[in-house]
Amino acid sequence: MPIASNLGYPRIGPSRELKTALESYWAGRQDLSQLLAEARRLRAERWRQQSSAGLEHIPSNDFSLYDHVLDTTLMVGAVPERFGGPGAEIGPDLIFAMARGVSGETELAPLDMTKWFDTNYHYLVPELAPDQAFSLAWPKPVEEFEEAKALGIRTRPVLLGPVSWLRLGRMVGGQGGTLQLLDRLLPVYEELLERLAGAGVEWVQIDEPCLSQDLPVEALEALETAYQRLGRRVPSLRLLLASYFSALGPNLEMALGLPVAAVHLDLVNGPEDLEPALALAPEGLSLSLGVVDGHNVWRTDPDRALAQLERAVTRLGGSRVLVAPSCSLLHVPVSLRSESGLDPELRAWLAFAEEKVVEVSQLARAAGGQGPEELEPARAACAARRASARVTDPALRARLQRLTPEQLVRPGDGPVRRLIWRQRVSMPLLPTTTVGSFPQVPELRRARARLRRGELDRAAYEALIEDEVRRVIRFQEETGLDLLVHGEPERNDMVEYFAEQLQGFATTRAGWVQSYGSRCAKPPIIYGDVSRPEPMTVRWAVFAQGLTERPVKGMLTGPVTMLQWSFARDDQPRGDTCRQIALALRDEVQDLEAAGISVIQIDEPALREGLPLHRGRQAAYLRWAVDCFRLVAAGAGAATQVHTHMCYSEFDEIMDTIAELDADVLYIEAARSGMSLLGSFARHHYPNEVGPGIYDIHSPLVPTVAEMTDRLRLAARAIPPERLWAVPDCGLKTRGWAEVEPALHNLVTAARQVASELDAVPAARS
Ligand code: GLN
Ligand code: ZN
Repeated sequence: MPIASNLGYPRIGPSRELKTALESYWAGRQDLSQLLAEARRLRAERWRQQSSAGLEHIPSNDFSLYDHVLDTTLMVGAVPERFGGPGAEIGPDLIFAMARGVSGETELAPLDMTKWFDTNYHYLVPELAPDQAFSLAWPKPVEEFEEAKALGIRTRPVLLGPVSWLRLGRMVGGQGGTLQLLDRLLPVYEELLERLAGAGVEWVQIDEPCLSQDLPVEALEALETAYQRLGRRVPSLRLLLASYFSALGPNLEMALGLPVAAVHLDLVNGPEDLEPALALAPEGLSLSLGVVDGHNVWRTDPDRALAQLERAVTRLGGSRVLVAPSCSLLHVPVSLRSESGLDPELRAWLAFAEEKVVEVSQLARAAGGQGPEELEPARAACAARRASARVTDPALRARLQRLTPEQLVRPGDGPVRRLIWRQRVSMPLLPTTTVGSFPQVPELRRARARLRRGELDRAAYEALIEDEVRRVIRFQEETGLDLLVHGEPERNDMVEYFAEQLQGFATTRAGWVQSYGSRCAKPPIIYGDVSRPEPMTVRWAVFAQGLTERPVKGMLTGPVTMLQWSFARDDQPRGDTCRQIALALRDEVQDLEAAGISVIQIDEPALREGLPLHRGRQAAYLRWAVDCFRLVAAGAGAATQVHTHMCYSEFDEIMDTIAELDADVLYIEAARSGMSLLGSFARHHYPNEVGPGIYDIHSPLVPTVAEMTDRLRLAARAIPPERLWAVPDCGLKTRGWAEVEPALHNLVTAARQVASELDAVPAARS
């Protein structure tokens, strides 16, 4: 019989209990023992849930108080000197200090945070030194195995493998790559495996997600070295080597040749691995087949999955096949149980973590020839989804068919449009603006919750929003900003706000997914063809513009970000879905323009993170991503300025793509990186206007005029000042008014000061 197994389970709990517990502890409302008791309860609940679903291989050590990469860093004793170095006492307070930093007298910067492969989960980047010492400082995997064992549940501990962990790390204060530390690190993993075997562990899952990437020779050699050693170290332990998010492709043959007991394949994202793996798998190697999508919310098509499993069972025999989700279920919401508000037809098409582990165990039984009738409801739901009239919109499809390449092109080029727009709107040298949102005051969040519960009527809610827009406009006028925003007070979230108004999108009540630490996101679900029944933003843009003589921007979330921060449909290519969203947003652009709005900002903070893991697939992605943005932007005529914003500063490798977007003005994050990205713009002769952020909004500190004039002067050396704007790094939604007011005053003062210096020295402007 194939073995029903899981790679990892969400940590946050069905009602974000972990978030509540963490934030109560941080705020001093609960003590440590209460937090730890809640964490223990959550772990027990997760194990019991998976056990009662019928899983045989249940993961442990997939839980974390903050982040599993950070846990691994502590496990191997790699504590940076500022947090006490290798001898530091390991516990929750050290975890939180490294994750969140320490403020007060001795300020300690947290570890850097960045995205986990192509997901929206963020991990903390290990900081390593060339002479880094390692030790088994925290046997967390052993502790959690024992904890489950005491509950009568035998688990499969999950480890982040040494090669991937090193590759995720960064060498500070030294030369060379982190992989040079492998020889020092391996003894820790060897000791850990021995301890696990001693505790009675039978199977260990070692995740090496780097196997899904294009690997340089050093990494391939490191994997070979690591697993030749670890695979043979403890003969009684069975190692499952797991990688996910993509096909193993060129790394498949090497992985199958390592001395491990099983290799996991992500057959959702890399179905092409199956046949070669079946052909190449040596005698005795088991395969774990990821047939249930761990990164998306759709119910598994049992016929597709069974076909794959049966091929493997025929070739290897049932006992050498493990059935699994494609990756850890960390990336999907916990349970459909709380989604009673979802339309029942749509709900039947979905599976969250709790439902996915049931799918896995039913598929394992069916692949072993037992209980095939259990799959009938899933089969019926998938057939209903395929046939549903809600999925396809013939009118939209006909419209997409009629699109011509000219519709992707804006009139004139950047410099020509600039002249036309400047005749319409007068702007000083170094104009000032913001990225869109102003502080989201708690009263507004409360009002929105009351509106949802029916305790506040729409008119009263809108009156509150109007007051807030008035306040934001008045503040910007008084502060002297040149191009205004309405402040986005009506938006709970930049994606959900649009998803709630678009056909083809559904939003959930509690479909939370961990983003980092206690932070969660609630991605909407795109289930069908997308269209826009009505204008979405025009009412607020027009209201705000009516309050002032200065221009006010229309604000849209771009098509790539709408797609990337949602659960996308899996029955058509992502690019096709993106084009549908783009068409809906194009109509919005045209309506804003017709309503007299002279600047429209289309935010694309997620453009870069959508880049596929394998380089071979990147060009195709960038092609459709650019085309979709252009389809939206080209809805605007020459007299309307199109702005865009992206929240990161690594531009060099995608600079050509950025230029192809042909946005009139681009704002980017730059303050923290010391404006280092300006070099890319200069080198590539970027033709349009740029606003490198001069105010680091991720910090509560108020930037001084001097800091910001310094940044602007630096910027004016790389980019002709006529094409430069003064802006913050990102939206101000998460900040308080007490910081934003002085910060924006300083920003305006800094811009005026540098502008007058530049005016005084015209040579500087050539
Ligand atoms: N306009 C959005 C805001 O200001 C942009 C946010 C973002 O880039 N993530 O909040
Ligand atoms: Zn941003």
